[in-house]
Amino acid sequence: MTNPARVRRSWAEPYKIKTVELLHMTTREEREAALLEAGYNTFLLRSREVYIDLLTDSGTSAMSDRQWAALMLGDEAYSGSENFYNLVESVQEHYGYKYLVPTHQGRGAENLMSQILIRPGDFIPGNMYFTTTRLHQELSGGQFVDVIVDEAHVPGSTFPFKGNVDLRKLEQLVSDVGADHIPYISLEGNVNMAGGQPFSMQNLHDLHAFCRKHDILIMLDATRTVENAWFIQQREEGWGDKSVKQILLEICNLTDGCTMSAKKDSLVNIGGFFACNSEEIYLKAQNLVVVYEGLHTYGGLAGRDMEAMAQGIRESVEEAHQAARIGQVYYLGEMLESAGVPIVKPIGAHAIFIDARAFLPHLDQDQYPAQALAAEIYKEAGIRAMERGNVSAGRDPETGENRHPKLELVRLTLPRRVYTQAHMDVVAETILDVFERRTEIRGLEMIYEPEYLRFFQARFQPIEG
Ligand SMILES: *Cc1c(COP(=O)(O)O)cnc(C)c1O
Repeated sequence: MTNPARVRRSWAEPYKIKTVELLHMTTREEREAALLEAGYNTFLLRSREVYIDLLTDSGTSAMSDRQWAALMLGDEAYSGSENFYNLVESVQEHYGYKYLVPTHQGRGAENLMSQILIRPGDFIPGNMYFTTTRLHQELSGGQFVDVIVDEAHVPGSTFPFKGNVDLRKLEQLVSDVGADHIPYISLEGNVNMAGGQPFSMQNLHDLHAFCRKHDILIMLDATRTVENAWFIQQREEGWGDKSVKQILLEICNLTDGCTMSAKKDSLVNIGGFFACNSEEIYLKAQNLVVVYEGLHTYGGLAGRDMEAMAQGIRESVEEAHQAARIGQVYYLGEMLESAGVPIVKPIGAHAIFIDARAFLPHLDQDQYPAQALAAEIYKEAGIRAMERGNVSAGRDPETGENRHPKLELVRLTLPRRVYTQAHMDVVAETILDVFERRTEIRGLEMIYEPEYLRFFQARFQPIEG
């Protein structure tokens, strides 16, 4: 292998630090008390109790000086804000869709799209579910059907395109229920729940041909698609000399519209949008957004937020930005992997996913091993991760049973442009300490379970014994 100093140089941050935010340090006693107070759910910790916050990369990225400057250009007119038109231009240039409706964040766009396109009894295939996406499909009377390739469910599989759609599964669904009951396929870029794994351009081309034949729309969850584009450039034959910007446009060109949480790729703290090429769908979205978000030229956002988003989108397709963003994730992941910690492979773009079942093989899945491990990592050093397993997957609406997903993961998610390499060293050291004493870690029982998206607010306690 190459000398580590050279590998490091390849992803050095393409920015320097202008402002710093001081971190809070806590004692072990304080963390134990905080964990009890939070019902062993890292979502319920107060951020001042956290030292390194790897809960999510959603809305937690650092904005650039240009984005902060963009906030001062906010045109806070109720209607027709200049910032809206700047956002439309930025989305058209980078994502290529004709029409845009801003929303306060991704799920606002999912709500609009689900209500417009889904009729009760419809099926919505997707390359693995996402929590809010599936819930909106269900609330509109639809049923999600997983059509991702099998490799995506195998944490140890090193298949480079675990985000691919398995066209045989899709074909099976079409023959079972009929294309008339499939309004669209929900295609997610760099599939979050699979570990931040991309689909290939070849797979998208095949999907596009299939969907055209059956008259099924392809609606992209574009939230992490710039990162998907970067992987296509790095891994897929024939795309190495194309820019991330070109690849992103090509992906969008093969789809009919998208929902977007701009809190991820687009480097803003709040914002999202729905975009599409069909005027008919657009007019419906433009009308419906007034009910849930606000007028169609602000969609629940301040003008300044739209301006920061327009600028964030431009910065997100910079090659050096993606190289550093994903390089940092790889830096952490490779440290853990070389020490024998079981993680999902290949390493994804936004997070390291620890395989909690392999880490804690003595726990049953109904003892919530990933939830227990996330709590333990917090207790060790104030590092906040999150559960992506049995708790996140929720209950089957038909049977009321836990869904028992194949993947029982703890996600260490890296905000963009926020932490340094030394922070990553601390994270790795902490997890190795927990790994050493893993046989002592006990499972959890759920003592409070909310009705919707339970992982956000559920409470737990350690199982005695
Ligand atoms: C975060 C996310 C969403 C939901 O977006 P919010 O802005 O949190 O409402 C949808 N899909 C994916 C893939 C996401 O990562």
